[in-house]
Amino acid sequence: MPPNDKTAPTRADRIAIELIDVCKIFGTTGEKATYAVDHMNLKIRAGEFFTFLGPSGCGKTTTLRMIAGFEEPTSGQLLLDNKEVTGVPAHQRNINTVFQNYALFPHLDVERNVGFGLSVKGVAKSERKARVMAALESVHMAHAVHRKPSELSGGQQQRIALARALVNEPSVLLLDEPFGALDLKLRREMQLEVKEMQRRLGITFIFVTHDQEEALTMSDRIAVMSSGVIQQVDGPVGIYERPANRFTAGFIGDMNMINAAVVTKSGKTVVVEATGSQFDFDCTLPLTRGQTCTLAIRPEALHFVTPDTRHQVSFSGTVGEAIYIGTDSVCSLILPGGIKLQARIRNTQSRPETGQMATLACDPSAIRILTQ
Ligand code: ATP
Repeated sequence: MPPNDKTAPTRADRIAIELIDVCKIFGTTGEKATYAVDHMNLKIRAGEFFTFLGPSGCGKTTTLRMIAGFEEPTSGQLLLDNKEVTGVPAHQRNINTVFQNYALFPHLDVERNVGFGLSVKGVAKSERKARVMAALESVHMAHAVHRKPSELSGGQQQRIALARALVNEPSVLLLDEPFGALDLKLRREMQLEVKEMQRRLGITFIFVTHDQEEALTMSDRIAVMSSGVIQQVDGPVGIYERPANRFTAGFIGDMNMINAAVVTKSGKTVVVEATGSQFDFDCTLPLTRGQTCTLAIRPEALHFVTPDTRHQVSFSGTVGEAIYIGTDSVCSLILPGGIKLQARIRNTQSRPETGQMATLACDPSAIRILTQ
């Protein structure tokens, strides 16, 4: 197709990986079956930084292992570049994996560690050397080509593990908690470096983590998982600002979740009852009278107001303890009935003392009504 043809599929439109109704069940004979992955449908675009995020045991690694070919789905189909690969062994997929434990050979130097896969494949020495150096340069480790793994820091070893995967020129790179063994500062540095590297190389990266901050920092899109089921797929902003259900709202960041019931819904306006008061605001969800729901409000959306001014959404109670967290403090407000709200307040702003009666308010647009 001509390069200026607007109908030509761009790299971003191309689907690199597709899972169609994929299930992975462990322990079907005798013991209770575990649905590690439960009817998963998903499309990952070429060149995307895609992250599986969820608590321990939610099925992230099993999903990754199926994509890599280390595990076969119990049912469903797996497509790479639109071709079914169910049953195709791992070494015949153009995919490489970087694990949390780097698994470098301790007795080989960096050059031979990175070039190991190429020598197994019989790639000629001169080409191997050139590809190893290019891979090392892409992770800024060319200077360490003759060092042994024991002469490298944890972050440097992780970079070598990345180079060892990149040298194979995979179309997809899988990363399973690759920074799990690094301290916090190094982890942050590596997050930014790997993200920059992915942009530069344009390879599809599929990342697994249980660290929400890591997922939000690095990903183009995130699949939030729980009990083998994808709860929501969206970009970091969508996941944080528009959680689809209580699980995502509770798992990502801090969230106040208040039980509520719908009093009326007419047109776009809903009136709900929560904490003994009624609030009205715009909501496009198809809610019905009497329906129970949850009001989800981020702590940073709440601020202290003087009780006598009228606010569309406000909550009054007794001020609890405040926790100092640098630029802000997390203040609590205990409402009648014992519900505790958290508000994140700038330390440059004045706030009521512990034990005082006070009111927190928020803009109605900051409230997310959740029905699932
Ligand atoms: P973590 O973050 O702890 O690594 P995860 O989200 O990656 O967890 P998986 O390792 O995919 O979760 O496991 C999903 C579920 O499948 C868990 O209940 C786990 O116990 C189970 N499971 C995983 N592998 C096997 C196996 N080989 N045999 C039996 N059960 C397994």
